[in-house]
Amino acid sequence: MVEQLPLKQFVVGSNPTEPSIKIFLKGGKLKRIIWISTSLTLMVLLLVLSLPFDAKAGFKQLLSLENNGEQNHFIMIQYKAASKICTITTNDQVNQFVWTGWKMRSGITDYYINYNTIPANISRDTVKTVFDMSFSNIQGAGGGVLFHYAGETSKSVASNDDVNTLFFATLTPKVVAVTYVWLDNNNLMTNVDTVFNSQHSWANTGYNGENDCSGAKGYYDLRNVATHEFGHWIGLGDMYHNEAKDLTMYGYANIGELKKDNLGLGDITGVRSVWP
Ligand SMILES: [Zn+2]
Repeated sequence: MVEQLPLKQFVVGSNPTEPSIKIFLKGGKLKRIIWISTSLTLMVLLLVLSLPFDAKAGFKQLLSLENNGEQNHFIMIQYKAASKICTITTNDQVNQFVWTGWKMRSGITDYYINYNTIPANISRDTVKTVFDMSFSNIQGAGGGVLFHYAGETSKSVASNDDVNTLFFATLTPKVVAVTYVWLDNNNLMTNVDTVFNSQHSWANTGYNGENDCSGAKGYYDLRNVATHEFGHWIGLGDMYHNEAKDLTMYGYANIGELKKDNLGLGDITGVRSVWP
């Protein structure tokens, strides 16, 4: 049985450095909406509700709320650093996924890499190969070609500029990576950027289907994290409940974790469901 779960948390705004609304859901119910006033560095809790929440309807509502009819708006999804240690896969056949509410446009999406920002311990070729394999995993599950490496860029700030970029930058330590998605009024993606946190150490260890947690000690595995982030590109959301812990779209990343290189059943079902 396929289960599409409600979206848990997302941030909506018009400027990546100033997300203005945070939504928190628990068990499919809207628990909190927070408006953040960055100018005052003040978080104002405006609303405490416990109403049934339809992720897709709520998503559209929020966009019109925040967007004021403007053409472009963005969504930010953070990949959280886990406080637990990596565990060996016990069940990646859980058939669950979350849909964010957006889709990619049909056709090929170009992506660029800023090599000037990559960690010194990983070669340029390795980074390119890792991203290539991670994209292959996602589009392979859907049975077509969606992503195309279009070259190098010097872009180092997430922005809505038609240059879908992968780069490293300083983020809060609690976050491993962040994906920013810009959408048109039909919730089709117009631009996407993924930022990997340069505050953490990164490595690349091959996954052989069994070495689930045998990545380099003290390092996040780039392919493990990239595969998850590219799941966001296509429109999949994070899952935070324990049952989903072996799926690629589980919302926490562990140091030394490799198992998310391979998609679980729910991830594959999700890719096919949101395929453009
Ligand atoms: Zn995520």
